[in-house]
Amino acid sequence: MDYSFDAFQDAIGGNWYADDALLADLVARQAAPDADARRDLERFGAEVAGPLARLADESARPENAPRLRAYDAWRRRVDEIVLPASTHEALSIVAGRERLGALHGDPVVFYAKTYLAHQNGEAGVACSLACTDGLTRLLAALGDRDVHRDALAAMRASNAGRVVHAAQFVTEIQGGSDVGANALDAVPDGDAFRLHGAKWFCSNVNADWFLVSARPRGAPPGSRGVAIFLVPAHARDGGPGRNGFTIDRLKDKLGTRELATAEVTFAGALAWPIGPLDRGVPNLVDHVLATSRIACVLYAAATLRQCERIAGAYARFRTAFGRPIGDYALVRRTLDDLALARARALAVALELVRLWPAKDGSAEAADFRVLLSLAKPILTRRASALAHDAMLLLGANGVEERFSPLPRLYRDAAVMETWEGPHNVLLAQALRDLARLRVDPDRFAARVSGRTNDPLAAAVQRVLATSGGEADAMSAMPALAASVVDALGDRVLQRRNHDQEESR
Ligand SMILES: Cc1cc2nc3c(=O)[nH]c(=O)nc-3n(C[C@H](O)[C@H](O)[C@H](O)COP(=O)(O)OP(=O)(O)OC[C@H]3O[C@@H](n4cnc5c(N)ncnc54)[C@H](O)[C@@H]3O)c2cc1C
Repeated sequence: MDYSFDAFQDAIGGNWYADDALLADLVARQAAPDADARRDLERFGAEVAGPLARLADESARPENAPRLRAYDAWRRRVDEIVLPASTHEALSIVAGRERLGALHGDPVVFYAKTYLAHQNGEAGVACSLACTDGLTRLLAALGDRDVHRDALAAMRASNAGRVVHAAQFVTEIQGGSDVGANALDAVPDGDAFRLHGAKWFCSNVNADWFLVSARPRGAPPGSRGVAIFLVPAHARDGGPGRNGFTIDRLKDKLGTRELATAEVTFAGALAWPIGPLDRGVPNLVDHVLATSRIACVLYAAATLRQCERIAGAYARFRTAFGRPIGDYALVRRTLDDLALARARALAVALELVRLWPAKDGSAEAADFRVLLSLAKPILTRRASALAHDAMLLLGANGVEERFSPLPRLYRDAAVMETWEGPHNVLLAQALRDLARLRVDPDRFAARVSGRTNDPLAAAVQRVLATSGGEADAMSAMPALAASVVDALGDRVLQRRNHDQEESR
């Protein structure tokens, strides 16, 4: 039988900025980009849908998975990560030429471009961007040594010929959420430290600069005793050797398979503290984890957009029993769910970007902190669930690895759920922050929904006043989180509808 998928493929290529009226509209309202910035987004929209999509597919082939080469030909221990040419080229374009690692220019335009890049589900690129963004923000805020300034300048100077990027290693074998249990030993050595011990999940281990959490000798137990350090990846003698650590093994992961995630042992790595030693965890959370959680939210929105695009194109293309499958009510329902979820996710992501610069101690900063902790679990969970539904919509072709990026997006979405804080941990954090930062339920609900006397205020009040203790309050958090995130998304989107009506 003569059967061609050309029409389907044509419908998902093209330009991912030009085919996304909602993105253009939200960016226009929040950033008022000039003609140059709009042209730049449009140019990049074609690049992500074309050359970068092909590179991402190439990197995702099993035979191109990252490999660890422990020794070079002259028996020197190098612990080199071998990545395919496709990943190097994608990094050179996205992190180098477009400089999407270190924030520059208007944040909304910057993260709109990042969202376009994330639609390819190329974790080797996405993780590098998020880690570099986090470390450069941290160094810009707290860097006070020459080595801090050198690292910051080098990352900001990334270009197509040389990408300088970052990684962040916090998780240890005994646990990732409980950072206060970190045991990596930091021994003073002049004005620096030497690190000894192991980290358990180290992504983007091929980076140039690491942010590492560790416990300075003699520091108190718990999170107050955990400091954060800047660690160069290579020995400072200019040779191929590592800076006092070994890469022991690469993880064999369900998702983000294009990304090298390693187990690492430090044995005297040179490290410089960033910020006061006893403020390591708060600084990590405020500057680095907030950045990576925004990245997860953007990745979830990007995943949903790609699923929406592919499922929509397939529903128009594929016929069954003589009708396009998009005519069937339950197919239609999946498409509607995808469209609503992605619209809300994008609206929430860009609204969080807008709230982010708020000053510490302000009500807006407290709201941002709570909203991010609520949005990350809800949106990453939704991206997994709906990527699954999108795959089902393509039938058997949905689970074929080369037919579309959906299987890869689905696997990555599952990883995003745990990455940078599992759901329970973030919901517990949100509950603590609501109380600790004295978030006013009425004001918070009004910011979220745009309405005074919104029932959300009573729902927030209820979890804060729950007399049944923490267990009762926590059991209400998943539902509260979903209501808050949806209300925030709807408020931004309704304003959009309202603006559109006004301009007619
Ligand atoms: C692919 C991948 C790459 C990663 N890369 C990195 C990296 O580059 N750097 C890095 O530092 N880490 C990295 N991680 C680790 C990640 O950050 C941790 O997995 C995460 O922080 C959770 O830690 P854990 O896995 O030790 O789970 P745990 O903290 O042991 O949690 C286990 C379970 O217990 C639950 N739980 C824990 N505490 C509570 C609580 N207070 N209330 C209720 N439930 C709770 C959690 O929700 C979870 O379901 C990566 C993880 C993955 C999957």
